Amino acid sequence: MKLFFLSCLIVSLSVPDSLDLKVERLHDSIISIDTHNDFAMFYAFPEEKHTVAKGQVSFELMKEGRLDAAFFAAYQEQGPCTEEGHARAKWLADSMLTALHRYAAELSQQGAIAFDAGEVRELKKQNKAAMLLSIENAYCLGQDITLVEHYYKMGVRMIGLTHNGNNCVADAVMDSLEWHGGLSPFGYEVIKEMNRLGMIVDVSHASRKACLQAVRSSRTPIVASHSCVYNLKQIPRNLTDEEMIAIAGKGGLIQISIGRYFLSFLPRDQVGLPHLMEHINYVVNLVGIDHVGIGSDFDGGGGIVGVENMGRMKAITRALIEEGYSDREIAKLWGGNVLRVMEDVSDFARSF
Ligand SMILES: [Zn+2]
Repeated sequence: MKLFFLSCLIVSLSVPDSLDLKVERLHDSIISIDTHNDFAMFYAFPEEKHTVAKGQVSFELMKEGRLDAAFFAAYQEQGPCTEEGHARAKWLADSMLTALHRYAAELSQQGAIAFDAGEVRELKKQNKAAMLLSIENAYCLGQDITLVEHYYKMGVRMIGLTHNGNNCVADAVMDSLEWHGGLSPFGYEVIKEMNRLGMIVDVSHASRKACLQAVRSSRTPIVASHSCVYNLKQIPRNLTDEEMIAIAGKGGLIQISIGRYFLSFLPRDQVGLPHLMEHINYVVNLVGIDHVGIGSDFDGGGGIVGVENMGRMKAITRALIEEGYSDREIAKLWGGNVLRVMEDVSDFARSF
């Protein structure tokens, strides 16, 4: 009898349960995309002590967690809006994007940069990770509209309008002052140029007014790449119902972040998947499954109990199944919605 229990224990420890098998099968057929991480900052400037990188991002971890694609952001902290400040921000963004290209080239057996939705799908077939490029903070554009195309040519397909401080493009939600009343005239030009080229406008970090104005002025759907629900945690960085309804009304996406900062006021070690599910469910109930996804913020403050890095992404899939989401809904949430927006944005650019 003792032996029977012992063998049962060994079996239960070594053989994945049926839900694990379902998760694996589901990941064979879907494409999973995470819309925000800050890996580039640490990778390009490892000597910088102020980064919050925790080694949460790599092609290897993506494979382990069955994460097919991720937007890697070139982040610059907001500094003075002067010629020198803008030149430094551009240098930082260029350096990080160059470093990301180098990372993908050095690990070409494991992954590659993808420039459109078709290439994400192609890399999935090759069993390789897809790196998508984005910018967090349009500070690096300064007031030079030609730099939007410069970054498009470097492979950037999404730009976040601000970080925590106002810049020449828009007001930031974390800034105590209002400079432009939302978008600046240059900000409207930037969005028009991004529409022309085929780049996604990212409103995470932008002020409420800037967000709503970006939704109205963009000809294509916009995305909040890493934000959560204000009604569940009242911090400026989370989105109000008004913002989420507006974003979804134009076909855009609310990409829920996997970070305690966004999800809950509880201590870090008590914030886990139930809180993540609460925010996802809220957005689904408010605007529908076609307008929600995941933007981890790994290596930028992200990480919760149970989803500590990209290698743990399957835990989200499992929780979604347990929550009652269908395969079709999970496919949309995990990446189908992002691919749809990427296609909408590039189709619009092709119409010029
Ligand atoms: Zn951020």
